Amino acid sequence: MEPLPEVLESTRRFAERALAGLGDRPVAHPPTSSAFAPLPVSGIGFDAALAEFARRWEPGFSGSAGPRYLGFVTGGTTPAALAGDWLTSTFDQNAVAGESSATDLEREAVRWLATLFGLGPEHTGTFVTGATMSNFVGLAIAREWLGESRGVSVAASGVQALGPIHVLSGTPHSTVHKALSMLGIGRDQLRLVPTLPGREAVDTTELRRALESLDGPAVVVANAGTVNTTDFDDLRAIAALRTEFPFWLHVDAAFGGFAALSPAHAHLVDGLAEADSVCVDLHKWLNVPYDAAVQFTRRQDLQVRIFQNTGAYLPPPTETPDLLHLTPESSRRLRALPTWFTLTAYGAEGHRAIVEQNTTNAQTLGNLLTTTPGFHLVAPVRLNVVCFTPPGDGAAVARAITESGETFLTPTVYQGVPALRAAFSNWRTTPADVERVYRAIVEAAGSV
Ligand SMILES: *Cc1c(COP(=O)(O)O)cnc(C)c1O
Repeated sequence: MEPLPEVLESTRRFAERALAGLGDRPVAHPPTSSAFAPLPVSGIGFDAALAEFARRWEPGFSGSAGPRYLGFVTGGTTPAALAGDWLTSTFDQNAVAGESSATDLEREAVRWLATLFGLGPEHTGTFVTGATMSNFVGLAIAREWLGESRGVSVAASGVQALGPIHVLSGTPHSTVHKALSMLGIGRDQLRLVPTLPGREAVDTTELRRALESLDGPAVVVANAGTVNTTDFDDLRAIAALRTEFPFWLHVDAAFGGFAALSPAHAHLVDGLAEADSVCVDLHKWLNVPYDAAVQFTRRQDLQVRIFQNTGAYLPPPTETPDLLHLTPESSRRLRALPTWFTLTAYGAEGHRAIVEQNTTNAQTLGNLLTTTPGFHLVAPVRLNVVCFTPPGDGAAVARAITESGETFLTPTVYQGVPALRAAFSNWRTTPADVERVYRAIVEAAGSV
């Protein structure tokens, strides 16, 4: 193998070029199929491997880390987070039991995140790979809590010991259905509660009615930031219902949780600290690289019952359980390091500035589209997403936007109407980018 310093140096130069060109790279690439190469038998060495990557694969990579990729909710990577990610692989720590301070670094990063989102010491947390796994872990704890309230342990006896399971939500993310499927509860057990008129936020009166109709404890999934219109359930009003009805309150705040960082938007997540479990994605709006999210809960004791992993050389969980007793993974990378770096380098203030820059950008684009004939916002810009209908065939406009390479938005359907979403969550996006995005949208709409 070649000397490590040379490998690192050529990778550094390669990465530097790629990052410098991020703003000029086509924002999205319609996938093209390419034939797979056979398994390299003897290997061609690192330099040739890098050249091969640059020739065959890199040109087809999207500019999703760049300033004008506004599809889904796709954050970028701050410089410090990127360095943290590099060092994660450099030190290659297994962030579970072991003679290492790595697990404490993760615990520190979790505490910082809890503070950022206004959660107190009653919420413990763990890193997972994404909001899907964060919802999964939160709902697994909810399932165990249902068992506790009926005098059984699902972890020991299985879901069949539980009897009927009621899960209620207004506009749940698709991954909540997926989590319920993985948990053996079943996608069909999710009961959709009517939302407020013309809104994606749950109607709390309807939720109360639904809870009244049940004969036992339930799980309520509240949504803090729906993907279409970034609508927010009234978390405080929902939490208050627990004085009358027994339920576990899980809040999916995958990106909406970042409203807490901005004084102008923090009211949207008022009551978040009341939740029994909370999901927040980090590879979205914290601008750390894939893959990272955090999950918080008030009942780590139940979490340990579910995920504990003991054996001959794995001691049982203690008061401060090892991380392998808390999530589906056992061995895992030190996923917290990019978060630790970006929070240390830029602080809560630096990250508040990113959130505010993105919400201002969304507001600007929303205002521009509102005053452009033929364009309509399907909802007010509440945070960082602009959801709108263009003139003419929305799907064709979406394709034309993607083909322009200038920006990428995701098509959606909102209340039966095809629409487009522009989600701002990358620290690199400037007002000049918003101007370019706006022009690309208007030109694409004029071309179809
Ligand atoms: C993105 C998102 C998820 C899923 O997140 P992944 O990181 O893709 O696993 C769940 N809920 C909401 C509200 C989201 O925006």
